[in-house]
Amino acid sequence: MQEKNRIVVKVGTSTLTHENGNSKLRAYEDLAFVLSDIQNNGNEVILVSSGAIAVGSQKLHLAEKPKELRMKQAAAAVGQCENMFLYDKFFGYYNKTVAQILLNADDIVDEEKKENLANTFGALLEQGIIPVVNENDSVSYKEIESEEKLFGDNDMLSAVVAVLCRADKLVILSDIDGFYDKDPRLYKNAELIRRIERIDESTYALAGGAGSRRGTGGMRTKLQAADLATAQGIDVVITNGKNPRILYDVAAGNPVGTLFVGRKARY
Ligand code: ADP
Repeated sequence: MQEKNRIVVKVGTSTLTHENGNSKLRAYEDLAFVLSDIQNNGNEVILVSSGAIAVGSQKLHLAEKPKELRMKQAAAAVGQCENMFLYDKFFGYYNKTVAQILLNADDIVDEEKKENLANTFGALLEQGIIPVVNENDSVSYKEIESEEKLFGDNDMLSAVVAVLCRADKLVILSDIDGFYDKDPRLYKNAELIRRIERIDESTYALAGGAGSRRGTGGMRTKLQAADLATAQGIDVVITNGKNPRILYDVAAGNPVGTLFVGRKARY
């Protein structure tokens, strides 16, 4: 058996939905299969999943993603339910139990709440349960409305969860193979960077603005997330979510996508 790892995997809206906004069932199914198998191999797994607003908008038969805050929050409430239904069902095939954790920024700032949350994660993982985490969009308006997008479609949230749970690895699954020297959607000659030891202003300069139409974070929020997690010694991998089996390689420590190397001895 390979070395035991505590792995946080973040999956974005662009991985979980088709171009037309419908749920991509294969993505849910593949993720459930691979994460269950990685857990069977002795690893601990936490999933940070976006997609609630997009999935909810479909379920509500809205012609497009809602712009008004109250409708966004309503769509999030409907979509979160659907998301958990899909995870419960697909993970259930592999005899796994999932648990829903919804978070707001303040839950992590307040020390007492933070400790409670860490204890909850600990208890769930101890029981072999796979926590599925999302921002509590129906309560918090800061994330879905703010220009800065504090958690950037959950990129930052996944880093905060990785630090809170003292994870060994954070994997950010995106719609792109990793971090390039320029935005590959704009420049055909962009090259994938395999390994980054230090994130500084020159690294941020390589990231364009917000990303795909369905995703919202873009590379900038992924870099911020990688910055936060690597500062606590956590290795961060950004790779493509279109084939979740790539997670086998990540768990085994094989090079895939872009590795941001944890900067200090962990904890
Ligand atoms: P997700 O929904 O998977 O989180 P996003 O759409 O938010 O994905 O972010 C990924 C996008 O960031 C890519 O599709 C790409 O267009 C854009 N991007 C900007 N700069 C870079 C870069 N240097 N390397 C890779 N992708 C970049």
